[in-house]
Amino acid sequence: MNVLIVRYFVNTLAAPDGRREVHANGCRYLGDFGQRLYLGAFASSEAAVTEGRNYYSDVRGCPSCSRPSERHEGRKASSRGDEQRNVSQP
Ligand SMILES: [Zn+2]
Repeated sequence: MNVLIVRYFVNTLAAPDGRREVHANGCRYLGDFGQRLYLGAFASSEAAVTEGRNYYSDVRGCPSCSRPSERHEGRKASSRGDEQRNVSQP
């Protein structure tokens, strides 16, 4: 059985909408060193996004390298700030 294992990172800098994106290794939108956090090697972007939620509350897969897995989430029109500013990064 062949399982494609890819290393994933999450941006430590939030996007303008307050979310962080999970990127596969080699993605063109992956942040520079110091602006990304290594999550680990996963067989799917969903697993990587799930892992990323251990670090940040609002994480999504990069639309370029990771298929978004939660379409049911919908759009919330509320304009709220970043709820989780004081996360500790390893
Ligand atoms: Zn990406």
